[in-house]
Amino acid sequence: EEARALLADRIHDVPDYPKPGVVFKDITPLLADPTAFATLTDVLAGAVARHGATKVVGLEARGFILAAPAAVRAGVGFVPVRKAGKLPGATLAQAYELEYGSAEIEVHAEDLTPEDRVLVIDDVLATGGTAEASVQLIRRAGARVAGVAMLLELGFLDGRAKLEPALAGAPLESL
Ligand code: IMP
Repeated sequence: EEARALLADRIHDVPDYPKPGVVFKDITPLLADPTAFATLTDVLAGAVARHGATKVVGLEARGFILAAPAAVRAGVGFVPVRKAGKLPGATLAQAYELEYGSAEIEVHAEDLTPEDRVLVIDDVLATGGTAEASVQLIRRAGARVAGVAMLLELGFLDGRAKLEPALAGAPLESL
């Protein structure tokens, strides 16, 4: 509870960013506070262990910042899921719908194996589209999904409802 209060205090609301009417959740104050960042890393590393994950997938770009130290602390590998066109090796790609248009994410196929149980980490669950596509990507790579852990969840966008069918019983946790 104390940890949650600290983390919540270090996430700042930025009104009208990136466009009028949107309230952006800015996690940079949390990252700049070593106690808060270490606390978050401990909590996420705890989730890796609790779910028996063998790999952590971080979603570009803020997900990288949260997932990489959690993977190191938990003693498992880190795998980046990137926007299309950024990874040099053989990739699997997954397209998904945005409010206007579509997007595509990729992973290096060789970074995930059928032996892996993967915890997906990102900062914010909004509509759930990015997390849903990443879950599909992990399954297509042959690995199992141990769960999804988010720093925070924008409840009013109902991303949880969109993501849950893809999770097929795997847990979605937001701090
Ligand atoms: P979704 O696919 O709609 O769930 O969008 C999730 C992605 O958008 C995540 O990778 C987030 O980093 C980013 N995102 C959406 N809203 C916010 C916000 O308020 N703060 C920080 N990131 C956000």
